[in-house]
Amino acid sequence: MKFISSILAFLIVVYLILPFSLSSCVKTQKENSGTIISLYDKNKDEIVKMNIEEYLVNVVSAEMPSSFAIEALKAQTVAARTYALRKINKNLPEHKGADLCTDFSHCQAYSYNSDLKSKWGNSYLKNYKKIKSAVDSTAGQYLAYDNDYAITVFHSCSNGITEKASEVWGGSFPYLVNVDSPGDYLKKDYITKAVFSEKEFENIIKNKFNNIDFSNEAIGDISYTSGSNVKDIVIFGKKIKGTDIRKMFSLKSSSFSIDKKAQDFVFTVSGNGHGVGMSQYGAEKMARDKQSYKEILSHFYPGTELKKV
Ligand SMILES: [Zn+2]
Repeated sequence: MKFISSILAFLIVVYLILPFSLSSCVKTQKENSGTIISLYDKNKDEIVKMNIEEYLVNVVSAEMPSSFAIEALKAQTVAARTYALRKINKNLPEHKGADLCTDFSHCQAYSYNSDLKSKWGNSYLKNYKKIKSAVDSTAGQYLAYDNDYAITVFHSCSNGITEKASEVWGGSFPYLVNVDSPGDYLKKDYITKAVFSEKEFENIIKNKFNNIDFSNEAIGDISYTSGSNVKDIVIFGKKIKGTDIRKMFSLKSSSFSIDKKAQDFVFTVSGNGHGVGMSQYGAEKMARDKQSYKEILSHFYPGTELKKV
């Protein structure tokens, strides 16, 4: 009888403990689940493997200010995850065999924890936890279009209306179109100026194009994209794309005007970035206006679908 009681007691204990053990085991597995990616560190010239969810904490920390509202950070996370998932197994030569790289101008910006500690100082833990919660709460989620990963390009701030991808890079992407982005106007340095002396201005043009006749009118006709960026501008008789002018003069965006003031050419530029896809400041404004990350994503990438890996 005593033996049977002992067995019963043992079974009761097992019955009580087992579900907790299993749930903690399942939780650990769930927390660790996620696509494994390889990342080429351009500075160290080495490849490291990591979970995409871990990678995203360091990407979002680098791509969006941690002071932004949580729903904006979640929208940024989904955009960054989708962008990363698209690049897996593409075998790009710049990656030396890895899926992604740490070069922000090629893939996405990536900040190491040590960089974040210096950048954030005493707020490191608070900011890190905030961004990790944006990543954890959207784990595995990405945007799809036509059964493929959407091209979730983003930029800091447009000029109040985003650009059509077809007018910036060509190609047709039904979800990378003009949408309103009133939050852009709230960015502190929304308007920037770039000043070039007459000589500097002419040299930049001369270095890019041969046979420019500088006796022509300096600034001629301007045409605009449907997002009010400069499409083409005639300079000294030469028709030049707005996106090329942006590169040549290192302007913040191709939404600009040029004035001749005394001996200088003055660019007045609105926004920051290529203007296509999600505007981060637009996302921030929507989040502050109590809209969810799902609403933000469907606003900036209309017609896409939120899915889970
Ligand atoms: Zn890359």
